[in-house]
Amino acid sequence: MMDSLARAGAPASASGESRLRRAADLGFARLVLSRMGDGGDAFLLVVEDITEARQLEETLRHTAKLALLGEMSASLAHEISQPLNVIRLAAESALLSLDDGDAAAIRAKFETIGGQSDRLRETIDYMQAFSRRDAGERRSFDTAAAVGSAVALMAPQCAGLDIALAFAPPAATLAVNGYPRQLEQVLINLLRNAVDAIVERRAAHPNGSDRIDVTLAADRARDGRPCALIDVADTGTGIRPEDMPHLFEPFFTRKTEGQGTGLGLSISLGLITGMSGRIEAENRDAGGCRFRVTLPLSDLPAEPDAIVVPAPAPAPDARSGEAPPMTILVADDEPLATQEIKAFLERGGHRVITAASGRSARAALEAAHVDVLVTDLSMPDGDGFQLIAETAAEYPHVAIVVVTGQPLRDREALAEIESGVDAVLRKPVSLRELSATLRGLA
Ligand code: ADP
Repeated sequence: MMDSLARAGAPASASGESRLRRAADLGFARLVLSRMGDGGDAFLLVVEDITEARQLEETLRHTAKLALLGEMSASLAHEISQPLNVIRLAAESALLSLDDGDAAAIRAKFETIGGQSDRLRETIDYMQAFSRRDAGERRSFDTAAAVGSAVALMAPQCAGLDIALAFAPPAATLAVNGYPRQLEQVLINLLRNAVDAIVERRAAHPNGSDRIDVTLAADRARDGRPCALIDVADTGTGIRPEDMPHLFEPFFTRKTEGQGTGLGLSISLGLITGMSGRIEAENRDAGGCRFRVTLPLSDLPAEPDAIVVPAPAPAPDARSGEAPPMTILVADDEPLATQEIKAFLERGGHRVITAASGRSARAALEAAHVDVLVTDLSMPDGDGFQLIAETAAEYPHVAIVVVTGQPLRDREALAEIESGVDAVLRKPVSLRELSATLRGLA
């Protein structure tokens, strides 16, 4: 500091903060150096001990983090315990209905259990999006591929609800830096919210139009830099003006108990700012609202995207038709899950072999002619990935269906397995989804 100030033309003062070290940490100091008089060689150095201020700042930051963690855990515990409670009650009540032989009541209870499991799955999705573990590698990627993938995932749900969902990708590639899975997750959140808002508006005003338009175009950010602009416009309820300042706060929700976690937009904001972008909301004059995501364009070309496309979700009424009888090897270390899947598949006329580890799955593949391998990824004796890679290499006729609790993270790793995986289903897996997938493989 002294050297630079002593040079001719240097500013009259300089300041900085520094950690003072000797054998032990001495603390922090703020240093202010000023030249005395006009241009002479005399200096005044003021050293201020700011150790306490720094410690206080650190404690506050830590406390704020803990408070957020506490708040999040409380809310997540609530989000998880609510459906669990309903599942337990419905299961016990179904058992009681068995004594009365009331098939309709039992069916209704089990449908409740299925619905509540979906709700749990949604909460887990949010938690995964929040953890960076699921993000894959930061890289330059094609925005249209991530947006298109989210639109494709939401299309069956929109079609089932008679909501038009349109997306026209731009002619030129718009490459941005970041995590394609996270952008996909943000778009899924925005689309789910748009669907909810349209369903809510429709209940009050059934005659309006029901559509979501997703557009993607090159634009300029506020700082003038080129960016990709993603718009999600819906014809839903719109947002109450008093809610606007709170939309992106964690746990802010207007949805009824059990319908919303209030985490979607706060997580989306975190993910988008993590990619140096912005996310904003506004009401549309014509009704409904628009969410706008801007991401700075990358200087690098988009790297090709190797996504294993998950099996499309079956339409809600996709019950008709069974897959022809096959020999199916189910590899999972959770015996209760394996039992249920086995019983279900056997009812559909399939021969089912079960294995609780990678090793016994390999032994079963050697011993019998297997048509389909349905496998978990985490096995007690090692890697589900290894079982899949070996099956793909040694038994290429075997179709592979992966069941995983972390589909976003695992899809990228699975893409590296050469002969490929035929379908990826996420946990908790629905038997109807599994059956539709097997039909697709037959
Ligand atoms: P959640 O969907 O679980 O409530 P979000 O953080 O995704 O949590 O959304 C917070 C709130 O923002 C919603 O409860 C809703 O009131 C409002 N909101 C979000 N998207 C829309 C939309 N497209 N139209 C109207 N309101 C919306």
